[in-house]
Amino acid sequence: MQTILTGIRTNEEPTIGNYLGSYVPMINAAHQHAGEFEINMFIPDLHSFTTPINHADFYDQTLKGIKYYIAAGLDIDNPHIHVYRNSHVPAHAELCWILDCFTYFGEAARMTQFKEKSAELKENAVSVGLFNYPILMAADILLYNSKYVPLGEDQFQHLELCRDVASRFNRKFKQDIFTIPVSEAEQIKFMGLENGLRIRSLTDPSKKMSKSSKAEKSKISLSDDPKTAASKIMSATTDSVGKISFDMFNQPGISNLLQIEALINNVPLQDVISTWAGETHYGDLKQKVASSVSEFLEDFQGKVAQISDADIEKVLEKGEAYANEVANAKLYAVQKLVGLRR
Ligand code: ATP
Ligand code: MG
Repeated sequence: MQTILTGIRTNEEPTIGNYLGSYVPMINAAHQHAGEFEINMFIPDLHSFTTPINHADFYDQTLKGIKYYIAAGLDIDNPHIHVYRNSHVPAHAELCWILDCFTYFGEAARMTQFKEKSAELKENAVSVGLFNYPILMAADILLYNSKYVPLGEDQFQHLELCRDVASRFNRKFKQDIFTIPVSEAEQIKFMGLENGLRIRSLTDPSKKMSKSSKAEKSKISLSDDPKTAASKIMSATTDSVGKISFDMFNQPGISNLLQIEALINNVPLQDVISTWAGETHYGDLKQKVASSVSEFLEDFQGKVAQISDADIEKVLEKGEAYANEVANAKLYAVQKLVGLRR
């Protein structure tokens, strides 16, 4: 069976933007396609320190990231859904090395994420790991016959590199050993992401909400105290139009609140829009969204608290046994092709 594969970095506290724009649609898609595909929701923990992180908290943060997935509704008992860390499946690092030797320095050096991220770091803090990141990502994908790889737009160049390296490898060894993931356009179509959802920053609604933003009031993190979250909504930037309508261009702040209200309560946006259209008291809308968001956080955090580290270790044990079996079989076949094994 082919695979839908998605990796979730766990080194920052996710926001309700990540939850509504990524967790919920991904989990829905996983449930919709499990059985027709294997669903690999892995944690790319080996990728996490390509840029500096706090190593002391890192292990627990990884476990917490998985708890968020379960609290968001991921059915971990489904036999076709697999949760694992790439650090616990050694074939990822081994295939990465082999692929390194079939990737040209020039093509890796073109990756804009490397250019952007290394520009943010001091020269002596730019690691070889950061440079090698896309090749490890290619190994993550190619070990599992991954056809669909839902990604943020910043990752499409890496997907293209993966497709190039895998095709070159298949051609060189005259065998379709690697499944080539479908192109960017087909990935987007498959996930139904044409009108990509963007939750906006609460302080500057012309921008999206981002977990790495230093402006605490711009974002609501999944671990925010519900009262603090409510007060962030109450102080959200709006406009001076004086009438509520859904208009992302002229009233992005108000439209963002309407959107959050609909998504967090899982009701059609159109219903929320018609309830509020023409109202003039922005404060009433803010009150309503503030209470929706704080209720959501209270409920979500309650669910997270009920999941123990031991529960997660069990999920990982099962997922990593599966992943090692599949990945080792693919690695073995590759090793034979390149002449490392008979
Ligand atoms: P960073 O600031 O570190 O880039 P981020 O909040 O943009 O963090 P990513 O790790 O880049 O988060 O993306 C994780 C997933 O969340 C992606 O699928 C991305 O499309 C989605 N996502 C990120 N921000 C939003 C948002 N504001 N609204 C909807 N979806 C979002
Ligand atoms: Mg981002």
